[in-house]
Amino acid sequence: MCSYLSNRKSNSFELMILNEIAVSPDTMFSKNDNRPFMIAGPCSAESEAQVMETARALLSADIDLFRAGVWKPRTRPGAFDGAGSVALSWLQRVKNEIGLKTTTEVASAQQVEEALQHEIDVLWIGARSSANPFSVQEIANALQGVDIPVMVKNPTNPDLELWIGAIERIQEAGIKQIAAVHRGFSTYGESIFRNEPYWEIPIELRRRMPSIPLICDNSHICGNRVDLASVAQYALDLNYDGLMMETHCHPDEAKSDPQQQITPQAYKELIGALIFKRETTDDADFLKYLDEVRAKIDELDLEVLNLLAKRMKLSEEIGLHKKHTKVSVLQVARWNEILEKAKDMGRERGLSEGFISHYLSAVHQESIARQAGAKD
Ligand code: PEP
Ligand code: MN
Repeated sequence: MCSYLSNRKSNSFELMILNEIAVSPDTMFSKNDNRPFMIAGPCSAESEAQVMETARALLSADIDLFRAGVWKPRTRPGAFDGAGSVALSWLQRVKNEIGLKTTTEVASAQQVEEALQHEIDVLWIGARSSANPFSVQEIANALQGVDIPVMVKNPTNPDLELWIGAIERIQEAGIKQIAAVHRGFSTYGESIFRNEPYWEIPIELRRRMPSIPLICDNSHICGNRVDLASVAQYALDLNYDGLMMETHCHPDEAKSDPQQQITPQAYKELIGALIFKRETTDDADFLKYLDEVRAKIDELDLEVLNLLAKRMKLSEEIGLHKKHTKVSVLQVARWNEILEKAKDMGRERGLSEGFISHYLSAVHQESIARQAGAKD
């Protein structure tokens, strides 16, 4: 696994939570015999021939849903913004002639209407729409009384409440089968990702909405072909329910997102090399071992909590003294010293710098708040 993935904070914690959550079985998005729900197809439906050729080549890839954007949200004007309504009939051909279920993005009531008229099987709400409650509500209103599965992508900005809010609006419209699609979040500045995954956000979504299946759109997280497999595997390690991957019969010539699309053959090879993870096991020895280790972890967690409580008490004491001697709460030199020392000590103990700095920042924030609020 790539180091940028294994370095992320609290991995074992993430795995622990996600391994224990069951998605209700009455949804088309759930795993089938431990195999994730698979969505593949081009970023955009560009021509009837491209759609049909890609779908035919994907038939032997055992996918559950064929994706293609009919209306494409593009950042700048002048880019290819989808073939539009005419492409819906191409998706209808995929369904009727090739036998694959289809899905496309809808961003307005009009688009919902047209997609339904063309028997699209599943709708998805794109990241830009999810970021806008007006758009989500318009779509939700158009879905009142309609029985169709809907996928809700995360909003472009790393705002969990907005993502949850979008899902709730669709739930309130009466839609029963809803999946959340994690496609990463916009960032400013350098990143190896096109959209930062911020894995802690989908993990928290899962904690808050355990019955909503979670699908990883690794194509839009990566923005390239080389990292697709490792990000997909990471999502499966976190017990995601499915994967959505952009697949094009001639990726280099794609009119949108050429750099991240792969051929159906490459898709099959990538999926074939993934290791699917089980939610649980009936291996009694393993379960016994897990219980024992977890009991030790629980004990250590308690110890850490007790130590943190003691540490905060000391902070409060210092806070009082600082208050009486009129010394400022924040002393940057001291904070730097704590951080640098901890990073060194952490390194010696096999704890990553990222983890130490996340952990200590939280401790320091709390400590400052305690000092500032210290009362006689
Ligand atoms: C897409 O899936 O092609 C797409 C436009 O995605 P997003 O809304 O995640 O940018
Ligand atoms: Mn795309």
